[in-house]
Amino acid sequence: MKKEDILTRLEQIRSQIIEATHRAGRDEEDITLVAVSKHQPIEYVQWAIEAGQKVFGENYIQEALDKVEKLKEHKQKIQFHFIGRCQSNKAKYVPGNFSMVHSVDSIKFVKELDKRCAHLGIGLDILVQVNVAKEETKGGVLEQDLFKFVEDILDLTNNLELMGLMCMPPYFEDPERVRPYFATLRRLKESLEQKLGIDLPHLSMGMSSDFKQAILEGATLVRIGTNIFGPREY
Ligand SMILES: *Cc1c(COP(=O)(O)O)cnc(C)c1O
Repeated sequence: MKKEDILTRLEQIRSQIIEATHRAGRDEEDITLVAVSKHQPIEYVQWAIEAGQKVFGENYIQEALDKVEKLKEHKQKIQFHFIGRCQSNKAKYVPGNFSMVHSVDSIKFVKELDKRCAHLGIGLDILVQVNVAKEETKGGVLEQDLFKFVEDILDLTNNLELMGLMCMPPYFEDPERVRPYFATLRRLKESLEQKLGIDLPHLSMGMSSDFKQAILEGATLVRIGTNIFGPREY
């Protein structure tokens, strides 16, 4: 990928997001594009920053810390979101380096995050990942365990701000088939808000193949990698 390619792709995705937002009768400011830069070279991230991209999603702590370090001159204007698997032994690296965690699915991890936040005297926004299709290979809390899990978070943490839910449904050739899963996540968010009397402003859902459907179902954070940066290099 050349610099111009990334600029053009970002531009295209931004207008597709705006189009879907209008189709859904929603405000443009309600949706944040999280550019997923895992396994992408640092120059791609730099070019995206030049093109005005502010939020980046990373799955692997070590790789992300490396990028945070290399991009520290941009610290004031960019943010990293952690969207990968939660490993409790890595939790201590999250606060201070990331502004949000999308993929919370373990109480042990949550406790570690909270402890580290307390130590640093800072807060951290979190989302709970829900395994909406009950897939064995995927992370996330099952629907039947969600209420207890959220109550535990509210009881056990002082420094974390629970902001909403995230999901990663199965891939379908036809993105319309993913829509029911997005609708499920929205319904779960609404029912948590009602039952627990809390406000959950965010729904993180939609990737390269299905972000338009996610926006129509209420996504506020869309996580897009391949459509911006091309295929990942492993
Ligand atoms: C890799 C990844 C993405 C981006 O997927 P693309 O299909 O490349 O847009 C989004 N969310 C999560 C959790 C991911 O791991």
